[in-house]
Parts: sequence; structure tokens; C-alpha cells
Amino acid sequence: MAKLLDSTHGKPKLLVVDDQPINIQVMYRCFAGDYQVFMATSGEQALELCKGNPPDLILLDVVMPGLDGFEVCKRLKADETTSHIPIIFVTAHTDPAQETHGLNLGAVDFIAKPVNPDVVRARVKTHLTLKFQSDLLRRLVFLDGLTGVFNRRYFDQQILTEWARAVRSNSPLSLILLDVDFFKLFNDQYGHQAGDDALRQVANALKISLKRPADLVARFGGEEFACILPETSYEDALAIADRLQRSIRELNIPHATSSVADVITISVGLATRVGNAGNEATDLIGLADIMLYEAKHTGRARVCSSVLETAT
Ligand code: GH3
Ligand code: MG
Ligand code: MG
Repeated sequence: MAKLLDSTHGKPKLLVVDDQPINIQVMYRCFAGDYQVFMATSGEQALELCKGNPPDLILLDVVMPGLDGFEVCKRLKADETTSHIPIIFVTAHTDPAQETHGLNLGAVDFIAKPVNPDVVRARVKTHLTLKFQSDLLRRLVFLDGLTGVFNRRYFDQQILTEWARAVRSNSPLSLILLDVDFFKLFNDQYGHQAGDDALRQVANALKISLKRPADLVARFGGEEFACILPETSYEDALAIADRLQRSIRELNIPHATSSVADVITISVGLATRVGNAGNEATDLIGLADIMLYEAKHTGRARVCSSVLETAT
């Protein structure tokens, strides 16, 4: 088989859903060589599997006791974590009205049983190639081209999501904004190319310094970065901000024209939403920005921080 445009690790994951084990076996034989094949014998089991370990494509029987294929498709398409998984219906009923209904629910294809192994393999390959292309595009849309960390567009989306989550679960949310010190002078001294390279190194060091999977680094603009730290207390975030500061200094990127150090440094603003603070996500961004401004105006290469008070 020609190599698939595979955006995941290893073999693509297929989920075969059918209440008749014999049908699953037929599909298994078709695909076991090139794919990781997962199996479910009911709609309920299929939904459960998709939640824990989303497959790259689903071959879905229509007629099953309990949740039928149409209902499973509807639920997967309604959930944004599974809505992008292509679904191919596999059914003995080749009635055009049913087929239209399935396609209208968001399925990408309809295949009649008994299946012809070559046809089903070819169709699966086509749909997977398209799926991996759209995964790649979806990721690129949210990545910064220079540094490879998330971009401002993703930040704007995630800060709202994390804010809503923090409000719901009444948990702290910390936000760090940071800016490279005297970066205009750095470019003037070493050239734009060296400037770009320094930004890549800074972004990478930030990424490495944040340890928790939920933490996120984004390029906020020019030589400014943002770190969203969900469920992170003020004290913990302050320790992280200090660590980021140190890790950039330890990159040891010479900056002869900086008046605060002889290497590249950053100024850091931290704000934490605590308790039942009212306000909105933009208030947290505003406060982190004020703290960054304070760090700049009290000497640079430092952290300034504040807790977001409850709105009255
Ligand atoms: P401050 O310490 O007050 O932050 O001073 P600064 O010079 O860092 O701040 P200023 O806002 O005056 O200048 C920011 C500089 O960052 C100017 C701009 O050319 C540079 N910059 C922004 N984005 C990029 C980029 O993508 N690549 C490079 N090489 N430089 C960039
Ligand atoms: Mg700067
Ligand atoms: Mg700046």
C-alpha cells in the first residue's frame, strides 16, 4: 500500500462497529495488515471507545439493536471532540432514502454489504488521506509560522475556553504575558535573521519549561508570548514565572546592547484568577498586561504579578 499521509503516530486507527461478529471478522481481515483495527459490537460501545481513544475513521453498521448507526453518527457529529472523524456506513440496505439520510447526518460514504474487500480498502484509503490533510490544515491554522508554538488566534480561543472552565469548576487560572527586553536593539545589533532565531529559541525554552499537558504557550505578537496555566494557583504560577525568566537567561544568547544584562532577558507579567472572582477573561489579560508594563518600567528582566480581585 502506498504510504498514507499519516498525521498520527504509526498505523492509522480504524473502528469497525457491527453487532454481527462475523461482519467484524471480514473487516478485520481486510484491514489488519495496514491499520490498527478496533472493534465494537454496539453503538454504546462505539461511543465509549471514541471518547477514550478517537479513531481516524469509523466503519459503521446501520442496523443494530439499541443505538443504531444513524443515532451513533448523530451523536459523534454533535460532539466537537469527535465531529471530525469520518464515518462510512456499511449496510445491507441500499435504499437511496437511507443513503441520503446517512450522508445528511454527516457520513462521508455508504458501502453495501456484502463488501468487496478491494473496494472498501480503496474507499477507506481515500477518506483517510482527506482526513489527515484536514487535520494538518486545522493544526496549521493555529500554529505560529516562525516559532511553531500556538498563535494568537488559538490563544484568543483557548483563554475563553479555560476561563469558562475555571468559572465552572471554581478553580484558579493563571496567565503569563512576557516580552523580550530591548529586542529592537538586538535586531539592530545582530540582524533580523538572528532575531528570528532568538525568538525560536525563546519559544522553545518556554515550551520545555512548562511541564503540565494543559499548559499552553502562544506567540501573542512580535516578541511577546503568553502562557495559559489552567488550575494553577498564584503561588505556583509565580514559581513558574520565575522559572521561565531563568530559563531564558540560561539560553545565554548574547545581547551586548541590552542595558539590563549581557544576554537576552524577558520581562514577565502574571495575573491569577482566584476564588469566585467575577470579571471576564479580558480582565485577566488586561491585568497580566499591566503587570508586564510594570515589569518593564521598574527595570525589566523581572516578574511582576497580581491576583485578579472579585468584581463588585
Ligand atoms: P522593550 O524592552 O521595552 O520591550 O524594548 P523592545 O525593543 O523589545 O520593544 P519594542 O516594542 O520597541 O520593539 C520590539 C522589537 O521586536 C521590534 C521588532 O522589530 C522586533 N520584532 C517583532 N517581531 C519580530 C520578529 O518576528 N522577528 C524579529 N527578528 N524581530 C521582531
Ligand atoms: Mg520587547
Ligand atoms: Mg513588545
